[in-house]
Amino acid sequence: MAPLLAVRGLSRSFGGVYAVRDVDLDVAPGQLRGLIGPNGAGKSTVFNLVGGQLPPHAGTVTLDGQRIDRLAPHRRAALGVGVVFQAARVFHGMTALENVMVGAHATTRSGLVAAALRAPSHRREEREIRDRAAECLERVGLEDWADRPAETLPLGQQRALQLARALCGRPRLLLLDEPASGLRAGERQALATLLDALRAGGLAMILVEHDMAFVARLADRVTVLHLGRVLAEGTAAQVRADPAVVSAYLGE
Ligand code: ADP
Ligand code: MG
Repeated sequence: MAPLLAVRGLSRSFGGVYAVRDVDLDVAPGQLRGLIGPNGAGKSTVFNLVGGQLPPHAGTVTLDGQRIDRLAPHRRAALGVGVVFQAARVFHGMTALENVMVGAHATTRSGLVAAALRAPSHRREEREIRDRAAECLERVGLEDWADRPAETLPLGQQRALQLARALCGRPRLLLLDEPASGLRAGERQALATLLDALRAGGLAMILVEHDMAFVARLADRVTVLHLGRVLAEGTAAQVRADPAVVSAYLGE
């Protein structure tokens, strides 16, 4: 299948030192690409370059044939790029449901969700957003947490909430930065099951992970970064058997 996302020659430096150098990668619809590597390899930088939180210094990011590497994050979101950041980032002072409504809003017409909540002319739109947000909460198993203040949710539930918010923006490509870190075994299992279901539904994903085992069971293809460059690319079994990958991980 033709790639949905094509990254070519992507480079970014900080203070003259390359964090990401000449990286190529593709993701097709319904494909989950693992992006792994030791700490400092450049994984989160790639995530930010694709999501739009950072501009690249060289290279291109193309989504479904359209260059997106110069677009702001919200423009990329509107084109179908969903992000789940590494650190739990939930909106404080809002309920879990309201947090997801902000994600749902990314694909609707009018201004801020706050405006939709206040203006009577937007009541129907608000109801639609609320229903959609409730559905997204249910998809990640958070329906019983809807009315809780987001910041009072345990870590696993805050992660699930971020995922619900991203899904509610109806992404075609979902970027996840170490979504399993800090989760308990049961939560990891639930996350893996959900990611499998999303892939089966045709979503393209990049799963940034430090943990090779979690990636190996989920990823169709794996890209290994080391010192900002692509060290290896292939199936999980192929990259795991690559001596260069083994030594990069042992050298940590
Ligand atoms: P990973 O996610 O694989 O652990 P990162 O992409 O976070 O790696 O970092 C890659 C390299 O870029 C590291 O050497 C890191 O210190 C550096 N780096 C990342 N972000 C910044 C930044 N905003 N300013 C300066 N250096 C950065
Ligand atoms: Mg990182």
